[in-house]
Amino acid sequence: MTEGAGVAVRAGVTGRAGVAVGADVTWSAGVTVGADVTAGVDVTVGTEITERHGPRRGGAGTWVALALLLGLMLAAPAQLSAAALRVVTTVAPITSIVENVAGDRARVAGIVPEGVNSHTFRPAPSVARTMARADLIILNGLNLEIPTLKLARANKRPDTPVLLLGDHTVAEQGYLFDFSFPEDQGHPNPHLWPDPVHVMNYARLVRDALIEGDPGGRAVYAANTERYLKQLEALDKAAAAAVATIPPRNRRLLTYHDSWPYFAKRYGFRVIGAVQPSSFAEPSPREVARLIDQLKRERLPAVFGSEVFPSPVLRQIAREAGTTFVDNLRDDDLPGEAGDPVHSYTGMMLENIRTMVTALGGSADALKAVDPAPVAGHHARYR
Ligand SMILES: [Zn+2]
Repeated sequence: MTEGAGVAVRAGVTGRAGVAVGADVTWSAGVTVGADVTAGVDVTVGTEITERHGPRRGGAGTWVALALLLGLMLAAPAQLSAAALRVVTTVAPITSIVENVAGDRARVAGIVPEGVNSHTFRPAPSVARTMARADLIILNGLNLEIPTLKLARANKRPDTPVLLLGDHTVAEQGYLFDFSFPEDQGHPNPHLWPDPVHVMNYARLVRDALIEGDPGGRAVYAANTERYLKQLEALDKAAAAAVATIPPRNRRLLTYHDSWPYFAKRYGFRVIGAVQPSSFAEPSPREVARLIDQLKRERLPAVFGSEVFPSPVLRQIAREAGTTFVDNLRDDDLPGEAGDPVHSYTGMMLENIRTMVTALGGSADALKAVDPAPVAGHHARYR
């Protein structure tokens, strides 16, 4: 909990605080801050607080920050009780899932900016520092974030766990391979999260990891998770009901980016193809011609592009096959702005399902029953 790079103040059940400042001054025996400190409150205030209150770390700035911190603890410990574990996450949907479970009890920060290609994303070298300070690192896994995982392993503290959600959600027999993620390359399609039932498992894994790192927060994490599982159940039910209104022969997906196989399996769609090859390059002219023929044969009412990957090729394929091109599916870019109710995993999925169902001839009415807002409020930091 106590890190060299910041100022960490931890108040335990005894009302004593162990205070460590920088790399040079440490009171490992603890500093008594008086009986006013709320019992049972874990407080960690790191570099951001230091930077806010003092111009530099170490030396006088740190002493000023320390004095302020102790003052803050005595004055308003409840406000600081929010800042326990530092949790680093990757793509926005994962950040949202962790935000729902953690509420205001942990500091959750996603490092993959929304709207970038998460498959080819390489974190900036400065993210190494974030990894070094993390108490828990949570990734989707299944090889989605290989450069980030390498950076995490090279820079994290030895005792900081790395949780790979996807790897603990489907067994190898459950892996799906396809055009964009071919079996001979050995990397299964990593997009488990468009399936809300897989996300229920993600939420349970996150809950258990948070409790392990912050046992004092058990009741909070468990209660948030219960509420979140109800939201995900409502999403799952509404998705199934909305998809059921699509004429059966239209329950087929052709997308640009291949994010939908687990979702399709859950709700009874058939993925007839994806345009983006495993290299994330453009498809070959031969592949384009093949897709146009296939579309003409299958007579799909619509094909779907993605917000993140502009897909002029799919637009062209749709035009030549005489079908509608819908350009706004998203698998890792949340709708709205941070703080909006729809800026959440559930909000993203509602929008995706609404887009698909409407374009394929069904009714999206069932989706109105689902509240997408994070169950314990907006607290995570998104990029
Ligand atoms: Zn993706």
